[in-house]
Amino acid sequence: MIYHQHEVVIIGAGLAGSRAALEVSKVADCAVISKIFPSRSHSGAAQGGMGASLGNLDDDNWEFHMFDTVKGSDYLGDQDAAEILAKDAPEVIYELEHLGAPFSRTPEGKIAQRKFGGHTLNFGEKPALRACYSADYTGHVLLHTLFEQCIKHSVRFYSEFQMVHLIVKDNVCRGIVAWDICNGGLHVFRAKAVLFATGGYGRAYKITTNAHANTGDGLGMVLNAGLPLEDMEFVQFHPTGIYRNGILMTEGARGEGAYLLNKDGERFMKHYAPTLMELAPRDMVARAIQTEINEGRGCQSPEQKEQGIPGDFVHLDISHLGEAKLREVLPQIFDLARNFAGVDVAKEPTPIQPTAHYSMGGIPCTTDGRVISDHDNTIVRGLYAAGECACISVHGANRLGCNSTLDATLYGRRTGHTIARDVGDMIYEELPADGPDEAQKNLQWFFDADGRENVADIRSELQDTMMINCGIFREEKLLTEQLGIIKNLQDRFGKIGVKDKNQQFNTEVMEAMELGHLLNFSEVIVTGAVARQESRGAHARNDFTDRDDKNWLKHTLAYRENGDIRLDFKPVIITRFEPKERKY
Ligand SMILES: Cc1cc2nc3c(=O)[nH]c(=O)nc-3n(C[C@H](O)[C@H](O)[C@H](O)COP(=O)(O)OP(=O)(O)OC[C@H]3O[C@@H](n4cnc5c(N)ncnc54)[C@H](O)[C@@H]3O)c2cc1C
Repeated sequence: MIYHQHEVVIIGAGLAGSRAALEVSKVADCAVISKIFPSRSHSGAAQGGMGASLGNLDDDNWEFHMFDTVKGSDYLGDQDAAEILAKDAPEVIYELEHLGAPFSRTPEGKIAQRKFGGHTLNFGEKPALRACYSADYTGHVLLHTLFEQCIKHSVRFYSEFQMVHLIVKDNVCRGIVAWDICNGGLHVFRAKAVLFATGGYGRAYKITTNAHANTGDGLGMVLNAGLPLEDMEFVQFHPTGIYRNGILMTEGARGEGAYLLNKDGERFMKHYAPTLMELAPRDMVARAIQTEINEGRGCQSPEQKEQGIPGDFVHLDISHLGEAKLREVLPQIFDLARNFAGVDVAKEPTPIQPTAHYSMGGIPCTTDGRVISDHDNTIVRGLYAAGECACISVHGANRLGCNSTLDATLYGRRTGHTIARDVGDMIYEELPADGPDEAQKNLQWFFDADGRENVADIRSELQDTMMINCGIFREEKLLTEQLGIIKNLQDRFGKIGVKDKNQQFNTEVMEAMELGHLLNFSEVIVTGAVARQESRGAHARNDFTDRDDKNWLKHTLAYRENGDIRLDFKPVIITRFEPKERKY
């Protein structure tokens, strides 16, 4: 085992991790660990934009942005966190601009802004132009800008190091252990402060927009360390994934004017959200699409028509914008539709279906990024979280488009500030004798595994069944069934066989470890979904169709204890906007 020491260790090199690293590197020795090359982090796939009330093209202001975020969250978001997000957003955008991010421009040279779902002027009156973007490569340009800045500021990157173990004892974080993917071998990192910025977990579902690396490792390791996860039952389905493979067609397409059409060519959103239509929040649009499909108004493929099978997708039509405009504002969409759906978006509609996209829940933390261990907000000393793996909670039960690149960058920066402030007074805590040994024992288990079960089979079964039993619409019977399925898959996981015994680039072991995390936190998602007997945001129960503020206006905290999941709850912070009925 190789030992390292850095004052601050950040796990994850997406927008959250790299923005935090930039901040921390000003005052402390900072290392970033990433299981993939930093600029390949999923943040780089963000297409549509980043929200901020710059008001470059309308009379937007931060209060409208805060209100939309809270209403979009179905009032489960903590309003102190939403206020910080909305207020600080313009500063964060201008800072990125000054760091070199090439945003698209208005004819006068200001940062261009476009419409996005749930973003409105004057508390819901009409769509706002709030999304700052760089064509439809926004995440790509932001991530590269930040990566370059980190290099400039001498951040030490450990690329292709997969974190495998978090060392927390007596509510104090002491470091982490990572596996060197390239050369093999375990590396122990002692640190005064550890920041989790490990991103999302779309890979728990069969149809997803998420990269293969998005397996929620950080969430699994937090559970294993005896710490809780918050609001995991809220899983966002993006309305417009390419039919059958789930690859994202950005909401920016609808922001630029795309329609959603059912098999009769009807813009069905008028029945669900008459004011905002296609620009309603994602949970509502995804449910509307699924309802059209479930009620027989889905579009049919030629084979489905021939065999008399009902259609299971709808159409996204943006052809009316014309090729020149499309190539200017949505070039990636142009290519994705052509390559993955065989569609020319300038001439014909794209078949789409909802696709698992974003995790509202995650590691509970304060608005300063400090991880907490219970409903009294007890701080875990030395441990921080930011970005998609964190739950502050800004997005509550449903995140608005463009609020995640913002959340990751803004709270990455803010948490970086916190760590930079804290680190001077912190010490390197003693490593418990059994910490690294436990990591070594766990890793050895994978190398020794010689059972009959197959990792890919277990993963496929998890992804297929999560899609059916814990997807857009949920009910007790299917959720309970899913819990049984997960328990069974966990048993089978204990009997896997790993054939590749090599140390170098052993992707079989990597994937097996990732599957362990998927199975671990998926049980939390489903347990929370069974317990929450109401419909709120992305959590829609067929058997409890109303939102129930009396009993359920509260956050879920879930712990893994003695092999089972224990739930606890904590109150929602409401400062300015009392919960109201959500109409768009
Ligand atoms: C296709 C797509 C398009 C999107 N478009 C938009 C958009 O237009 N606007 C918007 O606001 N949001 C968008 N989102 C959401 C947004 O991009 C993400 O939520 C956000 O960028 C996440 O940033 P992050 O830094 O938290 O995580 P990520 O960028 O996912 O980075 C996670 C990091 O953690 C590392 N990591 C994970 N596990 C380990 C481990 N075990 N060991 C070591 N390292 C590990 C990875 O290597 C990676 O560097 C989109 C998401 C997707 C999937």
